[in-house]
Amino acid sequence: MTTYAEKKAQLEARLAGAHGAASVSVRKDTSNRFRDRADDGRRRIDLSHFNGVLRVDAAAGIVEAEGMTTYEALADATLACGTVPAVVPQLKSITLGGAVAGVGIEASSFLHGLVHDTITSVDVLTGTGQILTCTPDNEHRDLFHGLANSYGTLGYALKLSARTVPARRCVELRHERHQDPAAYFARIGRLCAEGGIDFLDGVVFSRDEMYVTLGRFVDDAREVSDYGFERIYYRSIRERQTDALTTRDFLWRWDSDWFWCSKNVGAQHPLVRRLLGRRRLNSITYQKIMRWNARHGVTRLWNRLRGVHAESVIQDVDIPIGRAAEFLAFLHAEVGILPIWICPIRAPDAAQRATLYPLAQGSPSINFGFWDVVTTRQPRPAGCVNRAIERKVTALGGVKSLYSDSYFAEDEFWSIYDRDAYAALKRKYDPEGALGDLYAKCVGRVRADASSGTSAPAPSSTRTSSG
Ligand SMILES: Cc1cc2nc3c(=O)[nH]c(=O)nc-3n(C[C@H](O)[C@H](O)[C@H](O)COP(=O)(O)OP(=O)(O)OC[C@H]3O[C@@H](n4cnc5c(N)ncnc54)[C@H](O)[C@@H]3O)c2cc1C
Repeated sequence: MTTYAEKKAQLEARLAGAHGAASVSVRKDTSNRFRDRADDGRRRIDLSHFNGVLRVDAAAGIVEAEGMTTYEALADATLACGTVPAVVPQLKSITLGGAVAGVGIEASSFLHGLVHDTITSVDVLTGTGQILTCTPDNEHRDLFHGLANSYGTLGYALKLSARTVPARRCVELRHERHQDPAAYFARIGRLCAEGGIDFLDGVVFSRDEMYVTLGRFVDDAREVSDYGFERIYYRSIRERQTDALTTRDFLWRWDSDWFWCSKNVGAQHPLVRRLLGRRRLNSITYQKIMRWNARHGVTRLWNRLRGVHAESVIQDVDIPIGRAAEFLAFLHAEVGILPIWICPIRAPDAAQRATLYPLAQGSPSINFGFWDVVTTRQPRPAGCVNRAIERKVTALGGVKSLYSDSYFAEDEFWSIYDRDAYAALKRKYDPEGALGDLYAKCVGRVRADASSGTSAPAPSSTRTSSG
């Protein structure tokens, strides 16, 4: 087994031979990025072997792992020691470094914030080819606070320390039904303030059918449900008021059906489920199918034959809780995608706020996740619905994740994501621009066909260039 120190030394030697980290981007086996991008021709450095869990210190509440470690591996290693990362994003293939660079979230975020809020130290490979240890209070604290939402454009996280919390064997759930959006968000706000629970998220199924799910660690449960094969978690929310899962199954409750997006590949049909089998019912399989579809244009062709125009709307946006009901009304009226995932997020501490992800301060935000294709008979400008969402999010004081399509004008983008602070970070840590620019990476269109009507990117090979 190569240790982290050895991998780091090998990387430093390779980079020195290559005269710095010029034109670097990273190779990974999986990706949860959802933007259509052609290969930009940059030289890829393979960092996929930085994928080991290094140390679990349950007593100190810390796990140390390499940047490309998947949360599945991280959760398994920590659960074996009776502990779990404070925030575990819902998809097994999301990596620790990717979740910091791309803003990871889960039902524990009302307590612990976003994934980057749980990080205590990170080693970053910068654009100059140096590997710097960054903490909230050392000389590289600007980079520490700048990494969230930087999408690899300030450097790649090679090793991170993340906070963990004690885990118990099971998680007990209670699903509460609500009919009125104002009362629904008021209830979520009260639950965030009261504490006494470990997890809190929700689902909106229709204008008058929304659920909040309260989760608590428990030592044991009389009976535990299994949503990894024949049964489907999101459906259970409407069917039962209480439930219990093992802690591991709880962490991956959304992964088996990619929330509900497995419907797009027919995987919610009982026969298809049996054919796929437990092992293949997961977000990694669905990503592969969606990427294949994007590459071969099957959905595009089907839409043309049906005479419909399609726009992919795959978004996660964070709205201050006081404006959440207004945003939900907008989604119902102007977008029409259902279900919608709801997840409250603790307000960031002023001193620890992520430089490039300006989440509202003072009160919790609500993450709205909605992922589907919107179709019309009439042609519309590319990105019309996504654009309307961006404007609404900004008007309500919210902030949008950048893992999928964005349509911001450049000045508008930088008025949200702090141009001056980003420019200062780039001057210091990537002066030659080897790692690319955030706006170009997250908004710039490499493919002319911005609204392809598919909901997955078209990688150039099955191995993902996660540039
Ligand atoms: C359909 C869908 C659902 C999602 N649902 C959730 C969810 O439920 N919960 C959640 O938390 N998030 C969710 N996300 C967002 C996800 O957390 C981010 O997209 C995250 O960046 C993915 O991490 P990854 O490891 O797969 O990174 P990738 O997708 O491989 O890369 C994402 C970006 O991060 C950069 N990057 C990757 N690794 C590193 C590193 N080590 N250091 C610095 N930069 C790096 C890459 O260059 C790239 O720009 C979802 C995304 C999609 C598409």
